[in-house]
Amino acid sequence: MKTKIFKALSIALVMFTAAQNCFSQTKAELEKIDLILSKMSARAQREIKIDDKIQFIKDLKVVLEEEKKYTADPLPLYYLIDKKHKAPEGYAPKTVALVKNNDYGISRNDLSLRPDVEPELRKLSQAANKEGVWILVSSTYRSYEYQAKLFQRWVDIDGLEQAERESARPGTSQHQLGCAIDFGSITHDYINTKAGQWLYNNAYKYGWSLSFPKGYEPDTGYMYECWHYRFIGIPACQMQKKYFNNVQQFLLEFINYWKNEK
Ligand SMILES: [Zn+2]
Repeated sequence: MKTKIFKALSIALVMFTAAQNCFSQTKAELEKIDLILSKMSARAQREIKIDDKIQFIKDLKVVLEEEKKYTADPLPLYYLIDKKHKAPEGYAPKTVALVKNNDYGISRNDLSLRPDVEPELRKLSQAANKEGVWILVSSTYRSYEYQAKLFQRWVDIDGLEQAERESARPGTSQHQLGCAIDFGSITHDYINTKAGQWLYNNAYKYGWSLSFPKGYEPDTGYMYECWHYRFIGIPACQMQKKYFNNVQQFLLEFINYWKNEK
């Protein structure tokens, strides 16, 4: 009899301790959300809407699990790269060359992407094709050296100040990660084309996120680029829409803090 009572008590104690641990872990995570938000820009704080923090943490965990599926490169899929966050020194991703195919067009023969991102471009293009839209890929992975030349070319044409708005310094471009694409004409009128419109309305359903939306130059560092998308996966695109006012920069900054904040 005594052993039975003892057993029952021990089980209850174990369950109580587990519940308590779970509670304190959740509490710590809730506090972590507030801490991170307090470090972000005033605008990000205004625009990020997290009404149900418990649900937010659940969604975030799905997004972080999803990232683990993309293992083709040492850098994680959500790696934050912008004017303040550089790629590691000497970093270059493994890439696969894009070749002529029936799913999407290529505007030149030296295009390449991260091996686990190319299939995602294919899915996106197949979906577009089904709706009678043809996707043209114009710029993809760019090496550090290539980006350095490209940035200098813009400086020569437009001067440094303007070049900073429309081109990235080497080491700071999403293109250097091999997971970003410039589509079509790479001009502002691309949004008025069938493909530009289709991407704007549908790319997120296939995990592709518009990196530099209209009106966010102070936050992203770049003027509106209707042609530039980065692959971040479907759950991350959903999270971007649900909580981050559909601003990729806010989402990736938040995730970067989340990973680095203990
Ligand atoms: Zn681009």
